[in-house]
Amino acid sequence: NSLLEVKKVKKYFNVGGNDYLKAVDDISFAINKGETFGLVGESGSGKSTLGRTVVGLHNATDGSIVFNGKDTGKLKGKEAREFNRTMQMIFQDPHASLNPRMRVMDIIAEGIDAHGLLKGKERKERVFQLLEKVGLRPEHAKRYPHEFSGGQRQRIGIARALAVEPEFIVADEPISALDVSVQAQIVNLMEDLKKDEGLTYLFIAHDLGMVKHISDRIGVMYLGNMMEMAESDALFDEPLHPYTQALLSAIPVPNPKEIGKRERIVLQGDPPSPITPPSGCRFRTRCPHAMEICAEVTPEWREARDNHWVACHLYNS
Ligand code: SF4
Ligand code: MG
Repeated sequence: NSLLEVKKVKKYFNVGGNDYLKAVDDISFAINKGETFGLVGESGSGKSTLGRTVVGLHNATDGSIVFNGKDTGKLKGKEAREFNRTMQMIFQDPHASLNPRMRVMDIIAEGIDAHGLLKGKERKERVFQLLEKVGLRPEHAKRYPHEFSGGQRQRIGIARALAVEPEFIVADEPISALDVSVQAQIVNLMEDLKKDEGLTYLFIAHDLGMVKHISDRIGVMYLGNMMEMAESDALFDEPLHPYTQALLSAIPVPNPKEIGKRERIVLQGDPPSPITPPSGCRFRTRCPHAMEICAEVTPEWREARDNHWVACHLYNS
């Protein structure tokens, strides 16, 4: 049933000499067709690098990305182009990702042109239809990106991704750069489009609150490792990993009855460098529960509850 399988994927960047930035270090998980998988972590956790590796903007240093049963690192010719079409990305900063010298018509049609899908009148009509689908108007096609608000630019970015009828979209912090008032609109639009177009999402965010409602399951990354993964409700009801517990405790509680139930856990210090991560558990330098074993042994990635995975020595059985 998995549409995407991430198998023991590593992505290292050489930063001079024998030093490597271990942005993604041995991560495995799968996403089912029609699912929204939320991927959360602080900046520097490697979540964007993982997203870019999934779509093929980076080659994995090790491990494999399997899509529809095929290893995407081994695709050639027609199959490689087809993967390129069916897997699209929406970027964090719609201002930076839209070419300022191109009209919206040509921005949205980029993929259509690259894959030679439509021409002339059909191409134009398809762009008009896409504009309406994302809540804009056909007359917007002749304008330039700077004539739009941040939320509208993100709508253009979404239309561009949809233009080639993808199956899977990696959305890298698609709402982080937007005003709070606009964020919910874009999330709602993405949820509607998911239903209408039969999409599957990898939705990346730096904050758990942002992905709670849109995600079926959530994965939590820290310093290149996946620390916990569970169904969205289970993660919020019973976070197992001390890092997830800290992230959750930072979300303001909307219901006054719940105040006091969750104590605010303030993490000490900054994340260590991903070039020289701590031995054993990478979270140990900031973990309020760190034990001796945490420095010596890397915790195993295990299914501690049904469908609820965690890497932490507190759950060794
Ligand atoms: Fe904390 Fe140890 Fe669990 Fe890491 S393995 S999160 S240091 S208790
Ligand atoms: Mg990022």
